[in-house]
Amino acid sequence: MDKSSPFNFPSLTMLDDDGAEAAALASNGVKPAAAETDHGEGENHAKVLILGSGPAGLTAAIYAARANLEPIVIGGYAPGGQLMITSDVENYPGFPEGIQGPELMQKFREQAERFGTRFVDVDAEQVDFSGRPFRIWADRREYTADAVIIATGASALWLGLDSETRLRGRGVSACATCDGFFFRGKKVAVVGGGDTALEEATFLTRFATEVVLLHRRDQLRGSKIMQQRTLANPKISVEWNTEVADVLGEDKVTGLTLRDTVTGEEREASMEGLFVAIGYKPNTDIFRDWLEVDEKGYLVATDHTRSKIEGVFIAGDVHDHRYRQAVTAAGDGCKAAIDAERWLESEGIAQAATATAW
Ligand code: NAP
Repeated sequence: MDKSSPFNFPSLTMLDDDGAEAAALASNGVKPAAAETDHGEGENHAKVLILGSGPAGLTAAIYAARANLEPIVIGGYAPGGQLMITSDVENYPGFPEGIQGPELMQKFREQAERFGTRFVDVDAEQVDFSGRPFRIWADRREYTADAVIIATGASALWLGLDSETRLRGRGVSACATCDGFFFRGKKVAVVGGGDTALEEATFLTRFATEVVLLHRRDQLRGSKIMQQRTLANPKISVEWNTEVADVLGEDKVTGLTLRDTVTGEEREASMEGLFVAIGYKPNTDIFRDWLEVDEKGYLVATDHTRSKIEGVFIAGDVHDHRYRQAVTAAGDGCKAAIDAERWLESEGIAQAATATAW
């Protein structure tokens, strides 16, 4: 991979920690200082500002940039979204041999850059959608925008055990692509029964001698093809009706306390790694004062990509918990950019060019 790429990622846990730390430093519980505000046409102002740099955000950027809207993407401390922790992507059209998630995102980004997208790889910490231009704070800088596309996606969920938090980066991970290499010749467990868990388990067999899939029910949730592949892999065994009650080890993972979800019986199993792959939480915290969220915390989009605030558009996994695919997120990003451009035209902010700009 290109050394200058922002996608030369260290382990996910490192990214998480750095990102969280930097975000904490930046916000510090205090409203970010508006040291560099620009309400005009300067470098902190965009006709379209895109929050998020996964498939939805980057596709929106490609479309907005090609419509001469010179978008700014605030892409997060760990840009690229969930595909950065995905190994083989075999269902994204156009790649018959499959492609690695990070490589696919690098290509999206290069395409967006080619047409003039500006990238800021920090987390957005606060927004103010009370008036226009909209205001967005990221890394102590204030940005303003005529239209905003929210494509902040969703983040990996954790089990919520203290021991899991304590041993994160010391054998506990949510990213086999990032950390699998460290488990060469070891026995590891993967928690979950969805496609992510099946994919992580399969990927880990490249390194680990034995992969134990721990699933809380007696039926997997993942797609049929992934189930077949996983169950046929001689290095993978499945512990049905099993959950993790505790992660054992002082400085590194040495074992797990497992609980039978039917009988409640507990037992210990020696294990050198634990990969958590139990789904996602939408990244909607900073929007909750302004926009509607559903019972699971996902943003509610109305009339395709519109939100209840005119000029604020929504795309990808931040609102979609039904399909959650890279290709559907990309499609959403495209729609949001077209909707934003048409809205900017209707407001007289962008010149009417819709018929030819795409
Ligand atoms: P998911 O489909 O929601 O599956 C989450 C799994 O984790 C479920 O099996 C669930 O158990 C289990 N789980 C949830 N909370 C748990 C807890 N606290 N303790 C133990 N287990 C827990 O999430 P996903 O696998 O991340 O997939 C999300 C979406 O992305 C899906 O639409 C999937 O198809 C898609 N995806 C596609 C690909 C691909 O096509 N290459 C790869 C990855 C993901 P239950 O089954 O009992 O609920």
